[in-house]
Amino acid sequence: MTAWICAKGGGFTDIARLIVSPGIPHLYPAPNPVVVAALAAGVPVDNDIGLFFQSFSSSDWYRFDSTPRVVAVTGSNGKSTTSALIHHILEEAGRPAQLAGNIGRGVLDLEPPVDGEVVVLELSSYQTDLARSLTPDIAVFTNLSPDHLDRHHGMGGYFAAKRRLFAEGGPDRAVVGVDEIEGRFLAGQLSEGPGDDRVIRVSVARKLTGPGWQVFARKGFLAEFRKGKQVAAIDLREIGGLPGEHNHQNACAAYATCRALGLAPKVIEKAFNSFAGLPHRSQTIAEVDGVRFVNDSKATNVDSAAKALAAFQNIRWICGGLEKDGGLSGLAGATGAVRKAYVIGREAAAFAMQLEVEAEVCGTMELAVARAVEEAEPGDVVLLAPAAASFDQYDSFERRGEDFAAEVRKALG
Ligand code: ADP
Repeated sequence: MTAWICAKGGGFTDIARLIVSPGIPHLYPAPNPVVVAALAAGVPVDNDIGLFFQSFSSSDWYRFDSTPRVVAVTGSNGKSTTSALIHHILEEAGRPAQLAGNIGRGVLDLEPPVDGEVVVLELSSYQTDLARSLTPDIAVFTNLSPDHLDRHHGMGGYFAAKRRLFAEGGPDRAVVGVDEIEGRFLAGQLSEGPGDDRVIRVSVARKLTGPGWQVFARKGFLAEFRKGKQVAAIDLREIGGLPGEHNHQNACAAYATCRALGLAPKVIEKAFNSFAGLPHRSQTIAEVDGVRFVNDSKATNVDSAAKALAAFQNIRWICGGLEKDGGLSGLAGATGAVRKAYVIGREAAAFAMQLEVEAEVCGTMELAVARAVEEAEPGDVVLLAPAAASFDQYDSFERRGEDFAAEVRKALG
């Protein structure tokens, strides 16, 4: 196809729009030749997300009592968990809801919305960068840390891609994680003043008690403040599906979104307790003789691995794989709870050399799990949080997580 279009040159004469899948680079590190040919022919380049927003509302919506709404979630980490949690809360509350985007179901596979339905979309930076229409009713930004920098030509391009979700359509309400300067900048840019409650600020780093609308978590407690007054609090400490501060950030973002959709704090709290968590994200897969086994294969970058390492104590840490741009320096100071690392991946030795903790070069998952099981003592957590992509040894992070689970079953007999 590529060769055909490039060779023909004029292959775009009868084409209205080129729809590109997220894996195809449209600008950096180098644009795909088909994209180049389309742009040269003046053909607009778009993706399924753009098509979805363009075609979502329909003329027969006048029959609905309550117009369907779209919530779109972006950010570096926590998108899937936050999107799935919002969807779960809505379902538990009896509100019609569908979940799609970067999380399994494609947006063009969604059912036509019913009265009052909420469509929850997880959107990656690749998707927000390219979509020509982006008009969610509520837009959510979880956090920002370096990832996919080659595709966005650095951190500025990466942030700009995510910001499009807020800039293009002007959502009615924005839920913004403000623990990084980029989030604070975005929140500031979207609000008319400190008291503007179209922006709900979210933090797990500080108390937010200003005149606007804010949700934060400190020491395991979520608090909602509005106009300087506390209106609700939830104890997150015993919620099994949301362990660690990073999940408390997701809980705050989901809570804020559901409050903006009109749900009561008690309804949200009840739904938190029945959230099972997502596979491969801080997922407890076994607990035997006082040793807990946690699969966080989705920790494909340094920031998410650091967050997983902060969520547990006495960690036997299985890590390694295909290192991302920026190296492992982001792990500095994050490995205090690690008793020992068991390093996998083709470049395991080089990876191990960069760690600040005792590290054994294992290479394979089989050996890493066997060694960790052999050395684990009651109270330890054997945690897979690779801080690297999986593609040197696996097709996907899911396959890596499944392999971990299979090796754990094998090692435990
Ligand atoms: P995404 O869809 O953005 O990749 P996920 O919910 O799938 O996010 O989680 C990806 C990884 O990041 C997992 O390792 C998970 O434990 C970790 N994680 C989840 N939420 C957060 C967060 N709010 N901040 C940092 N890391 C997180």
